[in-house]
Amino acid sequence: MLNEKLLEILACPKCKGDLEYDKDNDKLTCHKCRLIYKIENDIPIMLIDEAESF
Ligand SMILES: [Zn+2]
Repeated sequence: MLNEKLLEILACPKCKGDLEYDKDNDKLTCHKCRLIYKIENDIPIMLIDEAESF
């Protein structure tokens, strides 16, 4: 689970907008860009190239 301080500073690398943290599935979602960023070993992978679109 990600720490709250880290979550507060995290932003989508594409639009710089807020991300929604899905703690059950360990992922971060940007609804504006429709991208899902994975979290691996508690480290968010904030790379547009690595993100999944939905
Ligand atoms: Zn975005």
